[in-house]
Amino acid sequence: MSAATSTSPTTLLTGGTVVDGTGAPPVRADVLVEVDRIVAVGSDAATRAGDDAVVHDVTGSTVLPGLIDAHCHITFGEPASNDELFFHRPQSSAALLAAFNVQKLLLAGVTGFLDADCIHDIGPALRDAIEAGLVEGPRMTAGLNALLTAAGGTAGRLIPDAGRVGYAQVVGDRDEMVRATRQQVKHGADWIKIHVTGSVPNRAGELTVWSADELRAVTETAHALDTPTIAHCRSAESTRLAAEAGVDLILHASYLDEAAVEALVAAGCAVAPTFTFLANLADHGEKVGAGSAQVDVFRGEIQATADRLRTAYDAGVPILCGSESGFSLTPYGHWHAREVELLVEVLGLTPLEAISCATRNGAIALRRPLDTIGVIAPGAAADVLVVDGDVATDVSLLGDRRHLRHVFSRGRAVDLRRPWPERRPLPGEKVANWSARPLTWDLAHGH
Ligand SMILES: [Zn+2]
Repeated sequence: MSAATSTSPTTLLTGGTVVDGTGAPPVRADVLVEVDRIVAVGSDAATRAGDDAVVHDVTGSTVLPGLIDAHCHITFGEPASNDELFFHRPQSSAALLAAFNVQKLLLAGVTGFLDADCIHDIGPALRDAIEAGLVEGPRMTAGLNALLTAAGGTAGRLIPDAGRVGYAQVVGDRDEMVRATRQQVKHGADWIKIHVTGSVPNRAGELTVWSADELRAVTETAHALDTPTIAHCRSAESTRLAAEAGVDLILHASYLDEAAVEALVAAGCAVAPTFTFLANLADHGEKVGAGSAQVDVFRGEIQATADRLRTAYDAGVPILCGSESGFSLTPYGHWHAREVELLVEVLGLTPLEAISCATRNGAIALRRPLDTIGVIAPGAAADVLVVDGDVATDVSLLGDRRHLRHVFSRGRAVDLRRPWPERRPLPGEKVANWSARPLTWDLAHGH
């Protein structure tokens, strides 16, 4: 049965400790959930529950809002390289694969996510399929292809000089930027994604590959069509330019400087730093054969970003949790909660503050008014988790599926007893190497 068509019973959760997502201290309270709404929290929950309510005693557990992942690439299919992502994902297979993978998010306690850029045009179609009940998945907001200039993005010369490949749409001039933005809105984009920095071969770090005027062209066009913009920025300058141009949500915001922080604060721009991808490679890359050259770069990027991002947070910049799930280093369903831990470790947020970033602030990613989703409060959307133990003192519990006792999505219980979805590779899906290294004559002859 699908999320949209099943009838949702009334559910009463009794005896749990409620972490409501607002940063407020935990309280012992019952929670009553009905169809797609939290009806009551506290002493009137039990009295308002009808005789037909399903009652769960969740004593010893934490009741909190479902996680909202603000940076998830559901259509990428866990590639190990750009080559695989760009050239080994035919449209029909990629769509089926995305529908398979999206169920894992719910099983991991993710009840909402933003997928800012998709391969082909799968994102909005998947969102609509979830809403229509064809596919079981969390609430989703979706972009289409990321807009890139001819200088490219993070795939070097795999990005063509014009046209589309993988998740990228290359826009050549101002007119094309405006036209592409309008077309994307027409085709269902909830967000317009801009790749403000790109890695150019032979150059260190990522360069800013958009001008201020070009960024304004996209944001003004998008805003005129009631559509927010989201930007990949892995430098201080790019973050400042994007914030000044009116971008609504910045991914990474790496290597912040004072001017960039000021611009973020002045613009009221939100940030999803996405330390998870960097930390996964830095901490665990060795276990999966990742290149060691990047380990120091990524560790340094976290350090170089953390202090100023904390300053921005203290000045009111909303921080969202994003995992960059969708690559081989961030497979679906495994790492969505790690950002909460990293916000505690790296930014020094309290567990309750970090949980707010993954729940209440996630409303921004879902384009919903604050406090209507991502919180445990009467009237809010009924996306609720029950996690064994005291999450407010140990946020790592959130990332350990063995502690996940219940997930309610739109008021309906997700079946957590089913086995984790497993599959075999599709034909041609994985890039095969002929060999790991060259077969020289010396090697063959044991010299
Ligand atoms: Zn990303």
